[in-house]
Amino acid sequence: MSLVVQKYGGSSVADADAIKRVARRIVDTRMQGHDVVVTVSAMGDTTDELIDLSNAVSGKEHPREMDILLTAGERISMSLLAMAVRDLGVGAQSFTGPQAGVITSGAYGRARIIDVEPGRLRQTLAGGEVAIVAGFQGLNQETQDIQTLGRGGSDTTAVALAAALNADVCEIYTDVDGVFSADPRIVPSARKLNSITYEEMLDMAASGAKVLMPRCVEYARRFNVPIHVRSSFSGLEGTWVKDATEGEVMEEPIIAGVAHDRSEAKITVIGIPDVPGSAARLFEAVASSGANIDMIVQNVSATRTGVTDISFTLPVAAVPEASAAIEADQELIGYTDLVTDDTIGKVSLIGAGMRSSSGVSAKFFAALRDAGINIEMISTSDIRISVVTRAEKLDDAVRAVHTAFGLDSSQGEAVVYGGSGR
Ligand code: ADP
Ligand code: ASP
Ligand code: MG
Repeated sequence: MSLVVQKYGGSSVADADAIKRVARRIVDTRMQGHDVVVTVSAMGDTTDELIDLSNAVSGKEHPREMDILLTAGERISMSLLAMAVRDLGVGAQSFTGPQAGVITSGAYGRARIIDVEPGRLRQTLAGGEVAIVAGFQGLNQETQDIQTLGRGGSDTTAVALAAALNADVCEIYTDVDGVFSADPRIVPSARKLNSITYEEMLDMAASGAKVLMPRCVEYARRFNVPIHVRSSFSGLEGTWVKDATEGEVMEEPIIAGVAHDRSEAKITVIGIPDVPGSAARLFEAVASSGANIDMIVQNVSATRTGVTDISFTLPVAAVPEASAAIEADQELIGYTDLVTDDTIGKVSLIGAGMRSSSGVSAKFFAALRDAGINIEMISTSDIRISVVTRAEKLDDAVRAVHTAFGLDSSQGEAVVYGGSGR
């Protein structure tokens, strides 16, 4: 007998029938003799609908109340799922994040799990019952307030529970059959990966492949939790996210996949004095706004003028505060103009094999050229190349790169079983 943690995403519990279908799967796992802990997301697009509702009631920032509001979505699905499991004759109890011992720290809306005290869950398992935990939430012990983990945070809840309970596997059930070489909604010919290393999955997730939240992959790598990403709509084997154990051969293609991201914007600061300290002053202002920046490009100074331009990318939601902070320090930084642009997209190619093969960048840029796509920014790591393009060209860019690297599957189209892709 083993201990299995299962996470069901919003599209897997979108309505009453879906909840009953998921309950059946949980009961089947329990009947096979496994201990089962489940974490669940809010039904369908509930989280987005709650955000829309809060905007309709008040356009202002209310971080504490917002977190309480959003955690309600997961409470609805967890309790309904517990009822459905019990109706099938298997004991089950649902728990909020705080009841389950999930302890968080940090800012509202993007708290981190710092510890899990799973006593209550262990008791439930010892009683032969299934424990169902609300995803995406925990209790901040300093403030005694409930907090959320950021969008997609139920993935992290699942891995944190699996680590704390020393589970044999963490199964992430979603609306596609696993991790693909690109988002199947954009590239129907994407191929399912049988396995992927933590390192590559982390870069895929951080580059926008929202099938897993980046922090969940970080957490899994740190605690060595094997993740099995699979569909709750099919019985197919999905994708294993783990490192190869000794003697085991993992698939080792040069490229793991192509990821894309539409959630960033670009800020360009024009006419900054090209002297030591300018970049520090600019990014100190940005840091004071709490924004996390991604790419940075500084154009070569025209010696004639002695000034330069710096562009950087950051989450769209962080633009108002970041630009206000830069504008407040305009005199100190000494720039002339600030331009924001939220019509950008980012395409990234990820693969650990890049470290040891040449010509990858050339092929990547040639693919974009052949598709008529202009590159606005470039950044690289040893296993990733990313470029910023116009948002409306992003889908074409993803498909062009995917094809150029021979990633298209010959086994028919990838299935997207549900979800709105929102
Ligand atoms: P859930 O509600 O189950 O958490 P998400 O919508 O957060 O589901 O994540 C699943 C979605 O991730 C898929 O429907 C797919 O559109 C998207 N996705 C993006 N990149 C990939 C990828 N490389 N492989 C699989 N899915 C991907
Ligand atoms: N319901 C939350 C969201 O939509 C958390 C999650 O689904 O993982 O982001
Ligand atoms: Mg998700």
